[in-house]
Amino acid sequence: MKLVLDTHSHTIASGHFTTDTVTDLARAAQKRGLELICITDHDPAIPGSANESYFRNLKYCEPKRLGVRLLYGVEADVMPDGGVGMANDLLAEMQVIILSQHPPCFPPKGAEENTAALISAIRHTKADIAGHPDDEKYPLLAEDLVKACAETGTAIEMNNASLTPGGYRGDAAARDCELLRLCRRRGVPVTLGSDSHGAAHIGDFTYALKLVEEENFPEELILNTSVEKFIAHLRAHGRRI
Ligand SMILES: [Zn+2]
Ligand SMILES: [Zn+2]
Repeated sequence: MKLVLDTHSHTIASGHFTTDTVTDLARAAQKRGLELICITDHDPAIPGSANESYFRNLKYCEPKRLGVRLLYGVEADVMPDGGVGMANDLLAEMQVIILSQHPPCFPPKGAEENTAALISAIRHTKADIAGHPDDEKYPLLAEDLVKACAETGTAIEMNNASLTPGGYRGDAAARDCELLRLCRRRGVPVTLGSDSHGAAHIGDFTYALKLVEEENFPEELILNTSVEKFIAHLRAHGRRI
């Protein structure tokens, strides 16, 4: 299966693990033969990440660098108060919205609370992608999440960093297998995201690709196989691209 785009990456603006810039990521993507990458830095709610003005300026960035198409978005946080870590008007400017749970913003709770908060935020933001819902720290009612994603047209992420052996989200593979089976049943699309902090792992889908192939997940539901298919998914949520 040929994957032509990476939906999840971080630059120096996220404030941890890398000093690489957008251009560094584009260069890595070009070398690895990708047509498009999504720049999805952490929202201002994550300590040390970029502030609002960084995200407000993304609309002035080049849509293409070194021949690689770039979409500028955010990995937004589910917050305990029912909101997300970015103002609504700013979220509306993003070209891609991944919605995730991270301990600094949403300390893990029980499965019902984690799932309810995630679903509520997905509905509120019209998120394009539910980011790494495979974290062992966050018990999840997988069936409820996939049902909600089917209703909102939100994709579920297979996160390569989570699936990398020794990764910091524990045993993600069992949860991801369950999610893939539920997604297939309900026709919910998935994205494969490297979640690369910096250029090193851009376009690295080693473990996520192995999993979807082992599960015989239908290629038509994998959004990384075509730029047109991925952009149609984003436009269906009102993203201005
Ligand atoms: Zn994340
Ligand atoms: Zn991330």
